Amino acid sequence: MLSTPETQLSSGDVDAVVQAAGHAASATSKGQSQIRRPQDTLAEIESIEQLIHDAESDHADTFNIPEHPAVSLIGDDSRVRTSPCIACHSTSARRLYSIGGVSEELVECESCGLGSIFPMPDSDRIQSFYPAEYYGEPTAKFEPLVEHGVRLGAKMRVKSFVGDLPSGSKVLDIGCGRGVMLRALLDLGHEAHGVEITHEAASGADPGAQIRIAPELAKAGYEENAFDAVIMWHVLEHLPHPEQTLVEIRRILRPGGRLILAVPNFGSLQSQRTANDWFHLDLPRHLYHFTPETLQRLLASNEFHYESVRHMAMLQNSFGWLQSILNRVSGTPRNSLYSLLHRGGEHPVVQNLSMRQRLKLKLGYWLGLPLAAAVSLYEAVAGQGGTITVTATLGRTTMPNEQFSTSNPPRSCSVRPFSSSTIYSAARFFCSRFGQHQRAVFKVECRQN
Ligand SMILES: [Zn+2]
Repeated sequence: MLSTPETQLSSGDVDAVVQAAGHAASATSKGQSQIRRPQDTLAEIESIEQLIHDAESDHADTFNIPEHPAVSLIGDDSRVRTSPCIACHSTSARRLYSIGGVSEELVECESCGLGSIFPMPDSDRIQSFYPAEYYGEPTAKFEPLVEHGVRLGAKMRVKSFVGDLPSGSKVLDIGCGRGVMLRALLDLGHEAHGVEITHEAASGADPGAQIRIAPELAKAGYEENAFDAVIMWHVLEHLPHPEQTLVEIRRILRPGGRLILAVPNFGSLQSQRTANDWFHLDLPRHLYHFTPETLQRLLASNEFHYESVRHMAMLQNSFGWLQSILNRVSGTPRNSLYSLLHRGGEHPVVQNLSMRQRLKLKLGYWLGLPLAAAVSLYEAVAGQGGTITVTATLGRTTMPNEQFSTSNPPRSCSVRPFSSSTIYSAARFFCSRFGQHQRAVFKVECRQN
């Protein structure tokens, strides 16, 4: 999504090192009249090393930020003053987690529970959070079996979210990456549009899709009311100004158009239970951490009507549990299993793993996945999925505190099961055991009167 960081030593630092090196070289190579003692040369070399070390330390914060830095609990219950919360405008936040190698922290709005990075970094700084290996190969990001699952999942979700729109509908995928969902949109007969911030991030996308490159959505130059649907699949949390992006989506989406947003659920069971070990924190790249309620507030303030929230995302939620637990108990660096499955075992983290650690991770993966899937099903039924997908319609606002439930749906809304697929049939069976949590696997459909 973002380009490779280009953070280097400043020209002043480099000049100082070059000058010192030049001095040492000239002193040792000219064969001057006085004989140069070996200890003098050694002292010069040591001073050059010190100079390089000092220069690197000055830039340590932006020089080599690991892809998955350690995340630690702050735990002292201290507060900070922030700029107004984008969901509720409060300016007081609780310090939650510190992030290894960077000065920013994760804080939580005291009033609404929205998580955010503090202080909010500028765009150059945000770019330094994305190492080259973050993007993977243009055509395949994960090892083949996982890649197959990712593509199949994209196909199913695209069909499920926009499959009912008439063929030829114009659908925009914001942060389309290598175009996994664009391909699925084209297969459905829709006009597939994508926007990315660099050509590199969008490489590998299907040539049938229409892709624009822009540093932010507002600069992509789309016309007013241009789209029937807009998809943001795990993108909103990466943006420094999600509220401004929603304003632009409101402009380019036709009235009554559909917005589909997927984000990690900061209020989920796996977020609460695994805390700083939670896989979907993805710090420091995730700048915001939404709960269903904070997302609903943000959408309502932009005239989006919250249609449904899905807590079921089998692949992402199961993997979230698995990696979070492994982060806590396996003794391997953070998100090592993810790095191992990420295409190319050349990942620096993977290269440093011992055979024993690799075996432990692989065993954890194959043995733990069925269990993680079962727990994910439970959290979906309980309305606390590790990631959520919200469908919203432009044109009718929802009161921030309006809650959907199957027992008390809003007026003009009907309630029906999500789908008749086996997985949801099973989930519905579990629903009957959990009374008030039925909304997790039922779809609330609303029509404007
Ligand atoms: Zn807030």
